[in-house]
Amino acid sequence: MTPPDGVQRMVCIGCPIGCQLEVEYLGGDGDAWRIAGYDCKKGKSYAAEEVTDPRRMVATTVAIEGASWRRLPVRTASPIPKDQVLALCRRLHAVRVTSPVAMGDVVLADALGTGVDVIATRSL
Ligand code: SF4
Repeated sequence: MTPPDGVQRMVCIGCPIGCQLEVEYLGGDGDAWRIAGYDCKKGKSYAAEEVTDPRRMVATTVAIEGASWRRLPVRTASPIPKDQVLALCRRLHAVRVTSPVAMGDVVLADALGTGVDVIATRSL
């Protein structure tokens, strides 16, 4: 990734406190970053990932046939690259599953080649 210039400011989403984080690329042999404003190591990790490999969980629904509901709630098993969120939502719009589906069943394996599965979050 090309390091951005200057100081980036962001709000940590790790908990409701919402610490105001600052991240600055320092460069050098160690490819160093200055991270400030966090109250715990979770915030430091979040800031580092946000500037080098931002990721997000995706929670949505897919169509289901033969169930009492028409949509099945699903989510990614772990965060995917942020720039693939919209593409994954479009891909999931085309997915159709058939009841019965158990909570935790894989609805879409290796979504968009990310290595992350999309799983059902309830049984229907
Ligand atoms: S740095 Fe820690 S305490 Fe602050 S918002 Fe993030 S998770 Fe919460």
